[in-house]
Amino acid sequence: MTRAITLQDIRAARERITGKVERTPIELSQSLSERCGVPVHLKLEHRQTTGSFKLRGASNAVASLSAEEKARGVIASSTGNHGRALAHAAKLEGMRAVICMSRMVPRNKLDEIRRLGADVRIIGDSQDEAQKEVERLVAQEGLMMLPPFDHPDIIAGQGTLGLEMIEQVPDAVLVLVQLSGGGLASGIAGAVKGVSPGTKVIGVSMARGAAMKVSLDAGRPVEVEELPTLADSLGGGIGLDNRLTFAMCRDLLDDVILLSEDEIATGIRHAYEQEREIVEGAGAVGVAALLAGKVKANGPVVVLLSGRNIDMNTHRRIVCGKAIAERDA
Ligand SMILES: *Cc1c(COP(=O)(O)O)cnc(C)c1O
Repeated sequence: MTRAITLQDIRAARERITGKVERTPIELSQSLSERCGVPVHLKLEHRQTTGSFKLRGASNAVASLSAEEKARGVIASSTGNHGRALAHAAKLEGMRAVICMSRMVPRNKLDEIRRLGADVRIIGDSQDEAQKEVERLVAQEGLMMLPPFDHPDIIAGQGTLGLEMIEQVPDAVLVLVQLSGGGLASGIAGAVKGVSPGTKVIGVSMARGAAMKVSLDAGRPVEVEELPTLADSLGGGIGLDNRLTFAMCRDLLDDVILLSEDEIATGIRHAYEQEREIVEGAGAVGVAALLAGKVKANGPVVVLLSGRNIDMNTHRRIVCGKAIAERDA
């Protein structure tokens, strides 16, 4: 029997990872506040060590292992940022880390994980195939599996971000959070609603392969085809045997919004030109949702910038307005 992650779990996670992760700043966005007519605060988590919030969950999960488990080493499949965070967290502890990923993962993310000393295995065309290889190696070599989202210590670690948000903007009426496997959204919603039950939490995904949204609509985890998207960190399924994040997202999220590739590109461009921030596609979806007019709020909004690990050639093309045309050609 599994249970939802509570505010208490998230507070315990914060104790465990303090000193291992950054408390990231929050800044008022002048341009988005003017546009939306309410204060819009950007949570600058893309500046986190390793370039994404994934270090929070990975650090909490690694710190929660026993000495015997640490000696066995850790393994995960990852679209990049979880693998990078886990490699970093394992390296700090002097542990072995094996990272399995699909061929869809961008080159820059792969190189960075290798640089952190992890053993990288490239398997198949989807996260589901990479995950099968993880399960094979767990059975064969006894490594500890730390999945990217559907794990209590990962969710609690990501939840520490929600604690910071609601402390930094206590009167927030709306929090916009990226939604893929749902570890991030479950943790943030658990923290934010635990402290401030009236605050809405809305998930944002790309329309191309929005596995959690399709699953929530169906009332159960379903598989969707994984498609190339600018928000590559949001790709992948939620797992047909999902234990925690499907139920938490169903019970805690107030809504889910989907974005086109054009809208995501506009978000990246806005973050760069107006906010002077370099963010990856996934990192920009909250900003993109506001720019697209797909959410309305009657009070302070917190928008999460979740990561910055974008290939810089891709970023250059997008800010020059070329990426979408080339993709469609
Ligand atoms: C992993 C990731 C997400 C989505 O997190 P989930 O827990 O899978 O929903 C969003 N943004 C970035 C940058 C990520 O790396």
